[in-house]
Order: sequence, then structure tokens, then C-alpha cells
Amino acid sequence: MASRVDLLSSGRAATHTDPMEPQPHRVISRVVEGPKVVSLRIVPVAGALPVSEPGQFMMLWVFGVGEVPISVSNVAVDGSLEFTVQAVGATSTAITEAQIGDVLGLRGPFGTSWPVSQAAGRNIVIMAGGLGLAPLRLAIDAILKSKSPPTSITLLVGARSPTSLLFRADLARWATLAPSCTRPSTWPTAPGTAPSVW
Ligand SMILES: Cc1cc2nc3c(=O)[nH]c(=O)nc-3n(C[C@H](O)[C@H](O)[C@H](O)COP(=O)(O)OP(=O)(O)OC[C@H]3O[C@@H](n4cnc5c(N)ncnc54)[C@H](O)[C@@H]3O)c2cc1C
Repeated sequence: MASRVDLLSSGRAATHTDPMEPQPHRVISRVVEGPKVVSLRIVPVAGALPVSEPGQFMMLWVFGVGEVPISVSNVAVDGSLEFTVQAVGATSTAITEAQIGDVLGLRGPFGTSWPVSQAAGRNIVIMAGGLGLAPLRLAIDAILKSKSPPTSITLLVGARSPTSLLFRADLARWATLAPSCTRPSTWPTAPGTAPSVW
């Protein structure tokens, strides 16, 4: 299959290859986020895939086990991708068991991206429960980094238990970055579901 090389807005060269062909990516960091939930940061072994936009997902493949759709939870400045995975079945469990240096297959991105630029000048409410915060993480960072920021951001995050609350460092960073970012005074232990707070 012929490939085409574009220079993306980030300055990173992306090799567009067959979207059906997984590209090998190496695990460079592994963070245990909570019970059965692990974040993996991966980099391409060879050509980079197109940049992922907030809301998109990729197909993550564990050789010899299977392939599953996983949302992109973070894209670093260097283009490395982060995925946050909960172990529920064979493939997701194998992904969460991957260690630094292991190689996974990756193809994508797929799916429609969210129009985060439309947040400019508006009052934004973002609500997430449990693992649902993973795909929203990229969107929140994109909104906060935007040159045309929203008037305010209210972020409501629910978790089954205090130990299963994801991305604690990001939650603290977001509250610092966005002066109008709000949170309940009793965070992170306010009881009830996120919708009940709203
Ligand atoms: C667009 C998209 C984005 C996704 N993004 C993420 C992500 O960022 N992180 C992530 O961890 N997952 C994500 N998922 C879900 C993930 O793809 C599934 O958890 C995965 O396919 C399960 O495959 P498996 O082979 O591990 O389990 P399977 O063998 O398919 O399932 C094993 C058992 O677990 C149950 N099960 C399957 N999925 C779930 C679930 N999500 N919750 C509870 N029980 C389940 C099944 O009913 C079955 O009983 C996403 C799914 C889609 C469609």
C-alpha cells in the first residue's frame, strides 16, 4: 500500500498508511490510575499516525490476543499518545498488563472529533463518570489551551470510590489553569453521582 507523508500543524511528520494495518508502537510509560485501570503512553516504532483530535479513538492491538477500540486520553507535545484502559475482558486486560518496552499495534484515528473551538466565549459544562473522563481529558486540555477560551468551565466528575477517581494531577492542574473552573467545596469526596450535583 502506498503511503503519503504530510507535515501536520504540530510540525510532526505523519506517515499515512493503510488504516487497516496496525502500526507497531512501544510503551514508554505506564501509570496505574486505579483499580483495574492503567494509562499507557506509547510512541511509534516507525512512522507516526495522523494526529488524533479530541473525541477520536484508535484500535489498540495486543499481538496474539485481540484488538479493541480505545479513546485517546492525551496527546503530548512530542506527539506521543496516551490511552487509559480498564481491564474488563481478555484484550483490555492484556493491554493493562503491558509493560514499558512492550510493543502494541495501533491504527487510526477513527471517529468524528468534537468541535472544541465552539467552546470559545461560552459557559462550558463537562460531565463525566468513571472511565468516561478518559476521552474528555484531551478535549479539556484543548479547550484550556485554546487562544479563544470559554467564559467559564464547570467540570463535574463522578467516581465509584475515591480510589477510582482518575487523573488526580490533571484535576488539580485544570483547577489552577482555569481561574473560573469550578468544583464542589467538598471535592473529591462529595457523595452522589455527577448528575445529582448538577
Ligand atoms: C469508541 C470507543 C472508545 C472506547 N474507549 C475506551 C477507553 O478509552 N478505555 C477503555 O478502557 N475502554 C474503552 N472502550 C471500551 C473497550 O473497547 C472495551 O472495554 C473492550 O472492547 C473490551 O474488550 P475485551 O476483549 O477486553 O472484553 P470482551 O471480551 O469484549 O468483554 C468481556 C466481558 O466484559 C464485558 N464488558 C465489555 N466491555 C465492557 C465495559 N466497557 N464495561 C464493563 N463491562 C464490559 C462484556 O460484556 C463481557 O462480559 C471504548 C469503546 C468504544 C466503542
